[in-house]
Order: sequence, then structure tokens, then C-alpha cells
Amino acid sequence: MRLSRVLVLPILASALLSGCSSGPDFVAKYEPWRGKEENACLASGILSHTTFIASRSALGGPSVCGTEKPFELSAVYDGRVSLKPAALLRCPMIPQIERWTRESVVPAARYYFGAELAELTIAGSYSCRPMNHVSGAKLSEHGYANAVDVSGFKLSDGRKITVLGGWNGNETEQAFLRQVRRGACQQFTTVLSPNYDRAHADHFHLDLARRGPNGLGNICK
Ligand SMILES: [Zn+2]
Repeated sequence: MRLSRVLVLPILASALLSGCSSGPDFVAKYEPWRGKEENACLASGILSHTTFIASRSALGGPSVCGTEKPFELSAVYDGRVSLKPAALLRCPMIPQIERWTRESVVPAARYYFGAELAELTIAGSYSCRPMNHVSGAKLSEHGYANAVDVSGFKLSDGRKITVLGGWNGNETEQAFLRQVRRGACQQFTTVLSPNYDRAHADHFHLDLARRGPNGLGNICK
């Protein structure tokens, strides 16, 4: 195992190297695609249309527990749908959240509830931690600001659909949540719902990890 390829970082080292303040240890591999993908996204100018993002200072670099140029995303869909609280994300995540909202969540809210979508409730975004908080596991996509957890959806009339309450809730809530999960699978490479495991009973985990030998593998559960 070459040190340049695989870094095993205990708590203290990760805190020193990446600016992460705490958390159990994790395993992180240097993956050149992360930096390339982020730079391509930044160079594309795709974010220039969004006024609801703010730049934040770098989170420890492109690969290990961080990202070069993180953004705080506070709203999508021309500001009509808030992210609460704002999510800290790398560039490639932002257009995908925008598209998912526009193409799946907003139409599903209209179809199932006859209402406009007002808010995505964010249960987590950037976090320097191993997968599922298990010590010694791989660094979570949250550690690259390449993931977001969505726990609920608020409508313009004040109604709220939560993943926890609605997944096995009334028929309309169940149908809405399954519809938006299907839509998420079009935009993200990983979508984990309550069907996946108990750790995801109360949120959808969405990320853009590259999976499998060609990096094109998807998980939609
Ligand atoms: Zn997650």
C-alpha cells in the first residue's frame, strides 16, 4: 500500500491536514477525478446564473476531506425554493440539485399536493467523517462536500412532508416521496432512501460519487 495512494488518517492528523475539527478516523484514497471534475464545473460557468450561492473558503483541498472551492447554496429555482439550512457543497452538486428540484420535486409537489414547493429541508451537507459515522470506514462523500441529505419538503401553503413520516405515511405522501426519489436517481449517482437501511429512515442521501471500474456505477435504493 503506497502512502501516496492511500492515506489512513487518525483524528489528530485529519484535524491538522484538513481543518476538520473532530470525528473518528477514516480511510481516504487520492482520486484525481475529484479535482478534475470540480475544476471543469467551475470553468464551465454553470454557476454564474445562480444568485443564491456564496463562495466559502477552501475546505482542505480537492481530495481528502474537502474541496477547492465550496459554495453555500441557500436557494434554487430562481430563489423560489429555499434550502434550509443552506448546504455547503462542491460545484458539481449544485446544478444537479437545481435540476432535480425543477424537473422532479416542483412538478411532483404540484401533481400530488396542488401546491408550490417552498423548501428543501437539509439534514446535512459537508461533514468530515467516515461513512455512516463508522470509525475506520471510507471517508463519506459528505467529507468531499459531494453529498447532501434531504429530510423533508415544505410547500407554499405550509404543509410539510418528511421522509421519516411520509415514507410509510398516507398514500399521497408515499407516492410523492417515491416519485422524487426516482427523479433523484436521474441526477445523482447515489440515492439512498429509507429502503436502503435504518440509517436513512429519515432522509434521502444524494451524492455524485464515481463507482465501479469505469466510474459509471449507480446506486438507486
Ligand atoms: Zn448522507
